[in-house]
Amino acid sequence: SDKLLEIQNLKQYFPVKTGTFSKGYVQAVDDVSFFINRGETLGLVGESGCGKTTTGRTILRLYEPTDGKIIYDGVDVTHVDFKPYRRKMQIVFQDPYASLDARMTVGDIVGEAIDIHNLASSKAERKEKILALLNRVGLNSEHANRYPHEFSGGQRQRIGIARALAVNPEFIVCDEPISALDVSIQAQVINMFEDLQQELGLTYLFIAHDLAVVKHISNRIGVMYLGKLVELTDSKTLYSNPLHPYTKSLLSAIPVPDPKSSREKQRIVLEGDIPSPLHPPTGCRFRTRCPYAVPECAEAVPEMKEYEPGHFAACHRIQEI
Ligand code: SF4
Repeated sequence: SDKLLEIQNLKQYFPVKTGTFSKGYVQAVDDVSFFINRGETLGLVGESGCGKTTTGRTILRLYEPTDGKIIYDGVDVTHVDFKPYRRKMQIVFQDPYASLDARMTVGDIVGEAIDIHNLASSKAERKEKILALLNRVGLNSEHANRYPHEFSGGQRQRIGIARALAVNPEFIVCDEPISALDVSIQAQVINMFEDLQQELGLTYLFIAHDLAVVKHISNRIGVMYLGKLVELTDSKTLYSNPLHPYTKSLLSAIPVPDPKSSREKQRIVLEGDIPSPLHPPTGCRFRTRCPYAVPECAEAVPEMKEYEPGHFAACHRIQEI
């Protein structure tokens, strides 16, 4: 198969103090499985606190997984020395300002990644690489001597991308890379991610809280709610035939150009807040906000089931609703 990355039953529980003598676990990611093919973009969406960012960071072993497996290019990398994989697997962060060292020039920020992995054999080669990387993301040689604060949000995100590309990665976790940017430049940055993918054969896990953002860039999309993956399918199907009530509610939040379209008829507005991941509801975690919940939903955890080829959802009542 051409799977580049696969996660199996991934769990990420963070211990927290809940009282003087008691401890609990935030179930940030609970039993999540998916794969990403080589050259593919998998979008991962959900409200803040759903576990999408934690999933991305656990895949890169920025957090040690509580349970489950991470398989990269056929190798189980869940517990191995991750250093050789740091080069192949990179991340672009949401806030390009916080993630760039304000005291370093742009050239040195990009150069540092080259140095860590010994990717240049001379000063001249290092410089040449830095300039090529800046050009690749639409910046120029003059920018190399300037500091992050001298740039706009969109340009800073380009610097973050150049830094990620400096080590010739195969796989990039794009962790809400456009959420902090002005709407006017979001499309430019998305287009750049797409161009880079074409040119360099990159594979992306593209994390966003908004379904509208991931629609065009993703081949397939996974939807998360309170630590669980609740639906997964190709992006076209997710928009035309969403199965899970939570996905339907996310889609009904996106304005529909044609009010007579079928999506408008299924309008679902969610009430209440996301429950705490420290004490998630029993059974289906979405049941406290689901308009279709029945008592049975409190009993068993719904498993991901395939309803049409490649289209998975986790809900007890898909057939009825
Ligand atoms: Fe709603 Fe029940 Fe389905 Fe959960 S299992 S999404 S509560 S209908």
